[in-house]
Amino acid sequence: MSGVRIIEKMYIAGEWTDGQAKGTFPVYNPATGEVLAHVPDGGSADAAEAIAAAAEAFPAWSTTTSYERAEILDRAYRLMMERSEELARLMTMEQGKPLTMSRNEVAYGASFFSWYAEEAKRIYGETIPSPRANHRFLSIKHPVGVVAAITPWNYPMSMITRKIAPALAAGCTVVLKPAEQTPLCAAAIFDILHEAGVPAGVVNMVTALDPEPIGKEFMTNPLVKKLTFTGSTEVGKILLRGAADQVKRVSVELGGHAPFIVLPDADPVHAAKGAVLNAFLNSGQACICANRIFVHRDILEPFTATLIQRVSSLKVGNGLEEGVQVGPLVDEAALAKMVAQTEDAVSKGARLVCGGTQLTEGELGKGTFFAPTVLLDVNESMRIYREETFGPIAPVIPFSDEDDVLAMANDTTYGLAAYVYTRDLSLAWRMWEGLEFGIIGINDINPSAAAAPFGGMKESGIGREGGREGIEAYLETKLIGIQL
Ligand code: ADP
Repeated sequence: MSGVRIIEKMYIAGEWTDGQAKGTFPVYNPATGEVLAHVPDGGSADAAEAIAAAAEAFPAWSTTTSYERAEILDRAYRLMMERSEELARLMTMEQGKPLTMSRNEVAYGASFFSWYAEEAKRIYGETIPSPRANHRFLSIKHPVGVVAAITPWNYPMSMITRKIAPALAAGCTVVLKPAEQTPLCAAAIFDILHEAGVPAGVVNMVTALDPEPIGKEFMTNPLVKKLTFTGSTEVGKILLRGAADQVKRVSVELGGHAPFIVLPDADPVHAAKGAVLNAFLNSGQACICANRIFVHRDILEPFTATLIQRVSSLKVGNGLEEGVQVGPLVDEAALAKMVAQTEDAVSKGARLVCGGTQLTEGELGKGTFFAPTVLLDVNESMRIYREETFGPIAPVIPFSDEDDVLAMANDTTYGLAAYVYTRDLSLAWRMWEGLEFGIIGINDINPSAAAAPFGGMKESGIGREGGREGIEAYLETKLIGIQL
């Protein structure tokens, strides 16, 4: 663990603290099963204290100039980039993704600080023509107030910066509860914010093994004005219901079930290479990973040949090792889900052509590794057709008709990401218009950046993160009418 700073504390009112935690909980390396650290097992009292600190800091922070806030965010960006190697190693140890992917995530995470340092300076109001001659309208933007944020383990740094950077840029103060699996990555970001000069109380972090009491405090404490969450649709619904009582502002980025459509004119080899990179991204543990790969029957054979060849040569292992492309799954429950979805599909007629089992040989036996898997002839009777997989399985569904595939792609309660491979512009355009998804990649497996609005339709969420929209989520519009 040389060169990696591990902080085993919460961060409240500008101090590293154990808060009122009665004990600690362990943080594991999913590749080795080793305990990396013990962090405070906080609860609602800590959340309440952090919220009070954030509320106290709000008046002063919200009245700083956007130039002052931008300077701090810019410092956070530079610190994060300077420490990128150390941060990437910590992320690989705590979350499991291969080191090259952790480096990408650190850079992606840092980019939210630089993007929103600039956006802070563009929080414009408007003058609006009034229908009355002796009357004028203006609208101005205000920060919403104290923001409570809950983040997941799969992107343990960028999901935090994607919320905190726009919140701070807008002039809000924040209390974060990171996922219980990855509190060390969160603490590393808070270390940077501290060093960048974020004043005491403006950002706070509470940790706990059981997220529920903190979640409750976030929903019921009247000082919290906005809740922002990234995680499962199930938990998102709990938070939406809880936020309703006080009509708190909410942004939720939830699950996905991305269709990946390969049309008959596409280059099947190129598309299959893209499908592998996309479906096995972060071991399949990303809400934008391909979950249903629809391939036209005319090119099914060359597509699946490349897919199987590429998937079976993926190197699985500890992400710190050179050349590893697929890391472990988050925990035992995730492994069990892979086995169950595979068995269910096979029992209903799917063909298992590679993978399909847990990997237990040698060092792999210490972690939670599942073999990269390809299932052919998947159909709508199977669980994997509808349930989020969140693991390294590529299910292939053949199709013959473009209208059919659009209907099949949309036949899900989710609406986050969708992908289309085609060289036909008008076909691409029709697909793009017809797909009920918030993010669409046309011959593109990575349609995301700090500058671009990320988010889903239907049960995949409410609101967008990143881009101009990302800061709007932390601003209220205040209208002023003036009688002359
Ligand atoms: P996943 O299944 O991917 O872990 P979750 O939605 O369970 O997704 O977790 C995402 C985040 O939500 C984590 O920080 C987790 O601690 C938190 N969380 C889970 N359950 C609750 C809850 N009942 N109230 C508040 N936060 C929760």
